Amino acid sequence: MHIVCLCAMVRWGDHWMMSRVRALFMPPPIKLPRMHSAASSWISIPPMSAISLSPNVRGWARRTINQRRLSEAEMTIQHVRNIRRAVQAVVLILFLVLLLKTEFAGTFSADALRDYRLAYPVKIFLQFDPLASFMTAVSTLTIFSGLLFSLIIIVLTIFFGRFFCGWVCPMGTINQLCSTFKSERRSRRGMNLVKSNQYHWYQKIKYYILIFFIGSAVLGLMIAGIFDPISLLIRSLGLVVLPILSGLLDFVADFSFDNNFPGNAILGFVSGWIQENVLVTHSVVSYNTIFSLGLFFLLILAANRWFTRFWCRGLCPLGAFLGLISRWSIFGMEKYESECDHCNKCLKYCQGADGPEAGVPWRKSECHVCLNCQAVCDRGAIKFKFFPKSEERIEPKPNITRRKVLASAALGVGAVALFKAQPASAKPNDKLIRPPGSTQEDLFMARCIRCGECMKVCPTNAIHPTLLEAGWEGLWSPILIMRIGYCEPSCTLCGQVCPTGAIRELTLEEKVGSREVPANVIGTAFVDRGRCLPWAMATPCVVCEEWCPTSPKAIYTEKITVRNRKGEMVEVQRPYVDPELCTGCGACEYACPVADKAAIRVTPVGESRSRENRIILENARGSSRT
Ligand code: SF4
Ligand code: SF4
Ligand code: SF4
Repeated sequence: MHIVCLCAMVRWGDHWMMSRVRALFMPPPIKLPRMHSAASSWISIPPMSAISLSPNVRGWARRTINQRRLSEAEMTIQHVRNIRRAVQAVVLILFLVLLLKTEFAGTFSADALRDYRLAYPVKIFLQFDPLASFMTAVSTLTIFSGLLFSLIIIVLTIFFGRFFCGWVCPMGTINQLCSTFKSERRSRRGMNLVKSNQYHWYQKIKYYILIFFIGSAVLGLMIAGIFDPISLLIRSLGLVVLPILSGLLDFVADFSFDNNFPGNAILGFVSGWIQENVLVTHSVVSYNTIFSLGLFFLLILAANRWFTRFWCRGLCPLGAFLGLISRWSIFGMEKYESECDHCNKCLKYCQGADGPEAGVPWRKSECHVCLNCQAVCDRGAIKFKFFPKSEERIEPKPNITRRKVLASAALGVGAVALFKAQPASAKPNDKLIRPPGSTQEDLFMARCIRCGECMKVCPTNAIHPTLLEAGWEGLWSPILIMRIGYCEPSCTLCGQVCPTGAIRELTLEEKVGSREVPANVIGTAFVDRGRCLPWAMATPCVVCEEWCPTSPKAIYTEKITVRNRKGEMVEVQRPYVDPELCTGCGACEYACPVADKAAIRVTPVGESRSRENRIILENARGSSRT
């Protein structure tokens, strides 16, 4: 089922993608004027001066002749450009397939604990992300081995410049696709399109954003992940777009059933099949703070309407990082300005707004190496080469001032100092239940890039992005909300997908514990006696005790007979929690029948990752185990 679905998706995606990419990158087809068939061969066109032709016909003839004269090298560059389009399409499809595969397909069994492993390398894009690896290295002063793949991109950038943006980055491809919706409109044609692809002042902003993030990483805060394009795309598609699509399918199926539309059975089947086999396999999920995530993503995409690839040119810190490295690249542009007839075709198709036209320096750090300019220039005025000669027409460094660089770094450092100076951030927070295997909070904040992989993969929909629960500095970092989902005892998936080691990959033994190894604890449950039915309302209830998955159970009950308001004697079982056995999985809180605020709730106290956040009680885990 999965393979069929995958093939269908790849085929459909490939077809759609290629048609969009063709529309996006190919020059508009030349409309051939009506003429005698003999004239369609360039050999049979008489000399221009010999006949009187309309300007359209003359233009067409000149272009045709020039195209026939393409040298072998120019043909090669055309092929290279086609290869780039294919690479972009394949990378984007691979990215989407891996995102869809970031999920658990199966069922957990309480009787037979099994160590479930994901079948696909779903975090590979993040492992190749140079910004994630550089920033985590700065913020933790260690190099996480899982991120070493990113060195490949860095080395390739030293050779080829910012090729990642033009050839690989799925966020860049999506932005370019979104930009074409506008460019296909009349207002972005001709001179307007040319103007939008000239270098703009706002292209400097991304360097200051990068430096701000480096400043904050120096003090151990990894907020760069909020703007990292790979992390941003996974988070936005996985936590916003896919759940919305899934919800829409659900709605359409329900609506057609309720209104008895013809063919509603087929619609219901198709909708259910897509949901179960393509979008999400375990359940229809939704995430806390989806609005803020969606709004951020929508603004980025919408900006393409006014400024071509605004995100890539103006804001992306990964683009800025690669732009800085590309100053040493040995592959670059050589301009032959005497050949240029200022037709501006190069500008019309330029993806980076880096000044390919004659009369201005080529800005190396802005160029996406898309090669469109060379491919569309039929006068051969632009050539990409290793060790280009016209060094004086190249601006290798970004156009940024030292004073603003220092100010951005100081802002980054100052922002972290401000966050950390807040008294609340020094105290344990009862909402901050991090996923099992999470590192101690300071290290967690230095490592988590807010990619949302852990949230996407969680089979019980327990992990959600924070809004302000972890302070401003913890925006969109993962916490468990037990009322929505609980931590499945035999699941270790969040640790498997975390690319930076913010969540350690646990073995099954480390997760559930054994005689030799203590179980991983994410918190402790507390009974709210004012809301608990047996405690507060003389009403029998043992739901939490039944749901508790530990063995022996961490929740035990005391049988007691109490008198209710009518004077009847009722036997109830009052629950207690043994902090020695509770792992904080939240199954009790999830299942508690008291609606809204559960009568038994988990807080992170006693979590394995912290030495400070302990229950200070004799015989409680905090004092006996540490
Ligand atoms: S600028 Fe950023 S988002 Fe755009 S293509 Fe480059 S890395 Fe991707
Ligand atoms: S929180 Fe628990 S259930 Fe969710 S992915 Fe992590 S280990 Fe699995
Ligand atoms: S903890 Fe979650 S959000 Fe943070 S880096 Fe790991 S997988 Fe991504």
